[in-house]
This record gives sequence, structure tokens and C-alpha cells, in this order.
Amino acid sequence: METDVLVIGGGNAALSAALSAREQGAEVLIVERAPKFYRGGNSRHTRDFRIMHTHENEYMIDTYPEEEFLEDLTRVAGGEINQHLARLIVRQSEQLPEWLSRQGIRWQPALSGTLHLARTNIFQLGGGKAMMNSYYQSAREKGIEVWYDSMVEDLTIDGAVFQAAKVRTKNAPTTMVKAKTVIIASGGFEANIEWHRRYWGAAADNFVIRGTPYNQGNVLEILLRNGVSQVGEPNSFHAVAVDGRAPTFDGGIVTRLDSVPFGIVVNKDGRRFYDEGEDFWPKRYAIWGGLIARQPEQVAYSIIDRKALGNFMPSVFEPISANTIPELAEKIGIDGNILGETIESFNKAVRPGNFNPSELDNCRTEGLTPQKSHWAVQIDDAPFYAYPLKTGITFTYLGVEVNEQARIKMENGQLADNMFATGEIVAGNVLRRGYLAGFGLTMGAVLGRIAGREAANAIK
Ligand SMILES: Cc1cc2nc3c(=O)[nH]c(=O)nc-3n(C[C@H](O)[C@H](O)[C@H](O)COP(=O)(O)OP(=O)(O)OC[C@H]3O[C@@H](n4cnc5c(N)ncnc54)[C@H](O)[C@@H]3O)c2cc1C
Repeated sequence: METDVLVIGGGNAALSAALSAREQGAEVLIVERAPKFYRGGNSRHTRDFRIMHTHENEYMIDTYPEEEFLEDLTRVAGGEINQHLARLIVRQSEQLPEWLSRQGIRWQPALSGTLHLARTNIFQLGGGKAMMNSYYQSAREKGIEVWYDSMVEDLTIDGAVFQAAKVRTKNAPTTMVKAKTVIIASGGFEANIEWHRRYWGAAADNFVIRGTPYNQGNVLEILLRNGVSQVGEPNSFHAVAVDGRAPTFDGGIVTRLDSVPFGIVVNKDGRRFYDEGEDFWPKRYAIWGGLIARQPEQVAYSIIDRKALGNFMPSVFEPISANTIPELAEKIGIDGNILGETIESFNKAVRPGNFNPSELDNCRTEGLTPQKSHWAVQIDDAPFYAYPLKTGITFTYLGVEVNEQARIKMENGQLADNMFATGEIVAGNVLRRGYLAGFGLTMGAVLGRIAGREAANAIK
């Protein structure tokens, strides 16, 4: 089997790269590990792209200038950012909605009310699944071949030159696919529990993977073994607090829990371990995955009372409820005396204030460790509720180094002849840590378009 451009992966990054290469006239084959129904990796769980824009339109309100976007990125990354690459992505994000519309992707008109993201982010109509369906439809119309249920098991790389990929397709013989250029868009290793065990030991067995089970990182591992330069911290990931009853894989966006700022969070021993009201939840939710990962048995419980219900997005699973704290403690399997003491000392430390969930209010504790800085209200109004929380991993940061043409760099500093990469597998080139909502898709599609164009041009 031979083709011009082989694209490995089947999400946003892969499809934007494939379509872009096809626009340049190249023959393209996409190899997607998942079966057709599950095609689209983590991209099918997404909702929005972060887009720079200088004029209001039907889908995005106000403006979001280049400098503000860059400042936002720099802030979340704690200053550790590749400014050059980041600026290129920010600038080219402006053209994305129009190009994606040409691939059939449709957008949700800007919402008013409490969802303010319409200034910085554009939302796909129908979410990630609809977006992926449009991408694949466009690929079919343009004559791009797609192999589902097909896993790249190995790559033949000679120095800095890609030769062929060994592809195992379900119920078919293994095929060697030769290609003039290859674009790797196979995501991170977030679904590989064995790999997480290297850094987290047995704790990794208690992690929940929010997205696809197919992102096992085997192509990443093959590249690194073949002398490709590595970026990003191997042991760092983006993780949020998800409902402890979520499935181990693919629970998606709905299993996230937003109750934390409106009560307290205790570990298995019934003790608090972090300030639940440190800042607005959208700015803090991403640290709770890591915090819970460091607690005994990697589990925690968000405890609230009747007053708090209605302050946060409804949960997909019903909370566990009880009329007394000892009864609640028994239901969640933690020591009733300790939980009682924790709640009593919290209630005593709460200082009166004006509770206001839409601002950093003055409801806080005094003389309590850890303190609760905002939205601290006594837990005293039955029924009482508990949500079990677990670490829900979104993505990993370890990846391969690329330049501004999305061309892979080798450990020895040489640029690969015919290997390109985009999407989550290159995220560490821009951000080493931190995350800005909607940036994952934007980065994957901007670099995807570049990778596709460059891969096709390299053949010419
Ligand atoms: C629940 C959830 C919600 C999210 N919401 C957003 C959002 O709204 N906006 C945003 O910007 N980001 C969001 N993200 C992050 C976003 O999903 C990623 O940044 C983005 O989808 C990565 O795109 P990708 O194409 O690189 O990877 P993916 O979409 O994960 O695609 C990787 C593909 O590679 C395939 N693959 C893996 N190994 C192999 C192999 N060996 N052979 C062949 N194929 C292989 C997989 O099957 C998969 O199709 C969210 C993530 C999750 C989990």
C-alpha cells in the first residue's frame, strides 16, 4: 500500500491536516485506531474553539484581540510559553471559523446570560460529535480514504526519514503502508494506565480518563524511541474533579462536578485538604484532579447542604443524601465522628458576609487550616449531600518537538525530512503546563492546516 500523505489519528488535528493536504492535491490516507462509531478521539467530546477576532459576529460577541489572547496564554502557563509559536497560532485562529465552515462545521449563535465565553470562544453546533461527522463527510466528499479500527503498531524510520507504518486492521492482515510524508495526530498517552503507573504507582489505577480509551500513546513512544526530540513534562497532565461514579473511560464533559466552591471537600479520612473557595471555579477546577490524585485512595467527597443546591450546574448522577451528618458519613463510608468534627470546626470558623456566587465574596473562614477564602457558608441545613470525586484526566503534556511548519525535530537538532505532527501530541511545544479553554482544538486545527500544507508541498 502506498500513498502521498499518511495521517495517523482521527480527531480534529488529523482531519484538519488531511483536508489541508488534500486541498494541495495530495493523495491522503487516514488511519484511525477507533471503530467508526468511536472515531474522533477526544475531539468528539469538545464544545468550543478559542478564536482571536477583531469584529463582533453572529457567533462571537465583542472582540478578542491578539495581545489579550497571548496574555491569557502566558498567564495560565506561568510564563513558560513558546511566544513565537503561540503568536502564530493565535493569529491564524482568526481564519479558522471560516475554513471550518467550509468543511461543513456549523456554529452555535452566541448565548447570553451566564455563559460569557462567547467573547473568546466559538461553540460548535451539536458539539464535538457533530463537528467530527462534518469533518469525515467533507473528507469523504474530497476523496480522502479512511481506515477505521486500524492501529499503527510500528513505524519504519531511517534517521530523520519516515519510510512506512505497520498497520493492524481488525479482521484483516497487517499492512505495511508506505507514504511520501506522514502526519502524526494520535493524541497523548492519557488513556494508558500502565504509563501513568510509572509516575504515580498504584494510584494510577484509581484515575478516570475523561476521553477516548484509544489514546494509548504508542505512536508517541515509537517516535521517542526513534530519536525524535521530546517536549513537555512526562508526568504532568490536565485533570479535573469528576464524579467518582463516572465510567473509567469516555465519560466526557458531563461527569465534571461544579459543587466544590459551595461546600467543603474532605478526603477518605474525613479531613479537608485545600481551600475550596480560592478563586472562581473555572479558574480552579483544573487543579482539583491533581489534588485528589494525592489523597488516600485518590478519592474525595464534596459535601454540601440544601442551601447549596441550585448554585452549580446540575450533576449527571444524583448526590448521595441524608438527613444527618452521621448518616451521610455512613453512606459514603467515612468515619462519622471525624466528618462531624470537620464540619463543626468549619461552621465555627465561618465569618458572616454577603454570599454572592458571581463575585469573590466576603464569606470566608477565620482561624481554620486550610482556610476557605470565599463562599464559606455554614453546612447546617438538612438534607445533606455528598458527591464522590475522582481524578479525571483530560490530556497529557508529553509530546514531540515541532517547528513552525509543524515539522518534527530530531534529538540531534536535525529537522525530519518528511514527518509532521499536530494536535495534542505537540501541545507541550506551546504550553508546558496550564490550559486555556478551547485552545486544544485551536492549536490542533491551526497546526493541522499547516502540517497538511507543508506535507503536501514537501512532496511537490
Ligand atoms: C471531556 C473533554 C472535553 C474537552 N473539551 C474541549 C473543548 O471544548 N475545547 C478544546 O479546545 N479542547 C477540549 N478538550 C481537549 C481536546 O479534546 C483536545 O485538545 C483535542 O481534541 C486533541 O485533538 P487531537 O486530534 O490531537 O486528539 P484526539 O481528538 O484525541 O484524536 C487522537 C486520535 O488518534 C487515534 N489514535 C491513537 N493512537 C493511534 C494509533 N496507534 N493508530 C491510529 N490511530 C491512533 C485515536 O483513536 C484518536 O482518533 C476536551 C477534552 C476532553 C477529554
